[in-house]
Amino acid sequence: MIKTHSYHSENEGPHLLVTGAVHGNELCGPEGIKRVMAKLQKIERGSVTFIPVCNPLAHEKNVRFIDTNLNRSFSTQDTSGNENKLKLVLRPYLERADYLMDIHSYTAGPDQFICAGDKSEDEWAFIQASSIAKYISGFQRGRQSEEERQLAKGTTEYAREHGTIAFTLECGQHKDPASIDAAERTIWQIMDFLGIVKDGPFKADTTQKSRAVYDIQHTEYRTREGRFLQPWRQFQYVEAGTEMAEYEDGEIIKAAISGYLIMPNEKVPLNGEWFFISELIEDEKRKAA
Ligand SMILES: [Zn+2]
Repeated sequence: MIKTHSYHSENEGPHLLVTGAVHGNELCGPEGIKRVMAKLQKIERGSVTFIPVCNPLAHEKNVRFIDTNLNRSFSTQDTSGNENKLKLVLRPYLERADYLMDIHSYTAGPDQFICAGDKSEDEWAFIQASSIAKYISGFQRGRQSEEERQLAKGTTEYAREHGTIAFTLECGQHKDPASIDAAERTIWQIMDFLGIVKDGPFKADTTQKSRAVYDIQHTEYRTREGRFLQPWRQFQYVEAGTEMAEYEDGEIIKAAISGYLIMPNEKVPLNGEWFFISELIEDEKRKAA
């Protein structure tokens, strides 16, 4: 059973959707949303819908997913298994929202960052209301084939197909209490930016600051049992040819290109993304507010 919580103003305005625990073991979304809802007094305009736990069964069991990765399965027609059934419930919410903020945490930590889409002007403005200084783009480009791109559709990719401006907020390491603070702060900042709330505890961040953009160029999948040859860190720089991982049959996986590591996850379920390699393409200066 998925629980949703909606707040509507009598005044016209944008509709924001905030989602948490698309991956069941990620707690910052549910906890951050809970804090916001406890303090939320008044909606100035538009509406906001919170779905604190998008994958209830996985959340209950404290696992990433039960049958398939919910955040990679929105485009498939398959309706069997836990996540494929959830996707049918969630799709209409993603389709209807004007804006989507999908909240996650990850294994390697500790940085907070945002996964952007096409970096259109509207999307850029939306994202920049947050205080997060690191962005990652190109998740779809990092996939090798069109089939892979289709299979890899998650909440934001699906929502964007329906005209929703969307980003994924990665709040840090799964168990880091600061990840909950980041989730709460960013929800308030985004609601302030959209004019949904007026007097929240955090305002949209209008300071001038540089924003690092890491553009994914390569995706390495874990195809069988194996291990990392070093405890790789998020945003760590590796040279092409660096020995990254070893499969149990002895095959060594080397870095395909030079670049910055994104979300290295030694224990990712089979056929999941072991790590991404990105290029630091720009150091975006914030446009004047
Ligand atoms: Zn996640």
